Amino acid sequence: MAVIPVALAGRGYEVVIEGGLLDRLPQAAAPFLKGYGNGRAVPFVADTNTRRLYAPAMERALAAHNLKAEWFIVEPGEDAKSWRGLEKLTDWLLALGVTRKDHVFALGGGVVGDLVGFACAITKRGCGFVQIPTTLLAQVDSSVGGKTAINTAAGKNLIGAFHQPSLVLIDPLVLATLPPREMRAGYAEVLKYGLLGDAAFFAWLEANGDKVLAREPAALEHAIATSIAMKARIVAEDERETADRRALLNLGHTFGHALEAETGFSQALLHGEAVALGMVLAARYSARRGEISQEDAARATAAIAAAGLPSEIAALGLSRDGAALVEHMRHDKKAEGTTLPFLLLKALGEAYVARDVDLADIAAFLDGELA
Ligand code: NAD
Ligand code: MG
Repeated sequence: MAVIPVALAGRGYEVVIEGGLLDRLPQAAAPFLKGYGNGRAVPFVADTNTRRLYAPAMERALAAHNLKAEWFIVEPGEDAKSWRGLEKLTDWLLALGVTRKDHVFALGGGVVGDLVGFACAITKRGCGFVQIPTTLLAQVDSSVGGKTAINTAAGKNLIGAFHQPSLVLIDPLVLATLPPREMRAGYAEVLKYGLLGDAAFFAWLEANGDKVLAREPAALEHAIATSIAMKARIVAEDERETADRRALLNLGHTFGHALEAETGFSQALLHGEAVALGMVLAARYSARRGEISQEDAARATAAIAAAGLPSEIAALGLSRDGAALVEHMRHDKKAEGTTLPFLLLKALGEAYVARDVDLADIAAFLDGELA
């Protein structure tokens, strides 16, 4: 078991990581269940998959403490993170009579977590919520840090709020049912932590990544705890991404986002897969600038390929060129005039924000990669 504090004055909380934690929900979340019982059900949000797979165990655990759950269920997929989805969920919360002291429980991946987090940020001007992330991506990334959002016609995650959860409960055993492709996509974000800030963790992943992907409990718990500890530290230093610290978490994301946009945010490329490709590109571009060696760029690429993640954009069969990909980057939330802050590497295990990147040079670099 690992307990990792997220140290934010007045909004601090714990991330608890333990196999079998779901069965101990009433004990693990006791402070946030106090207002329920005596006819008041605990509000839970899940998607149809997480409801089917994990609601029965949670209901049994709650029943043993005379508690009942009430469920709001969404269809799996990004569509739930919409104005319509938000309206339905907030209407449901208001109908239940949720107060600012209450906590809503989010059981699912990043979609459920982001939707619930944003709904709770605005319901009665802010009620509490508990994250119970069930994908590797949500367990190592989206459930911690307080970024919440929905998607709109203009793009992904453009409407949202910073709203921290009160508790994050991570049960790595639920990853047993996660489809392998989703597991690999989450693993890309795990590799990201090694590459951006922890050379020893990156080396550990090179040696033990296969065990993590095979869901061996000890390796998995170590990978999740190390990832969350780094995210918690960075979020505590720079909660709202104003000081170039939290931005480090975007390693691979500027390139990756352009690839997601080019493939229409479709199943062709999951977010984690786009980030994997984005990290390869960031490493190679850093090598092109002479900031890391070609050998180190090859090492980063090899770790990504070894995980079964895509590592060559030429293999995507995109029909357009580097300039078209750069065009997507110009719409980035972080775009500043004609340049864009890029997350590059000074070493494997040390990312930094480069502000002198010429987008024309990026387009030329991408043309080479696409060929
Ligand atoms: P997801 O929530 O769509 O889940 C992926 C799929 O896995 C779904 O079909 C889901 O039903 C299924 N699933 C979930 N848990 C399962 C389990 N244990 N067993 C079997 N199937 C399971 O995807 P995701 O990758 O978790 O999250 C992606 C979302 O997270 C995106 O909307 C992204 O914008 C957001 N995100 C947010 C942050 C943040 O800081 N808030 C960070 C990264 C990503
Ligand atoms: Mg990401």
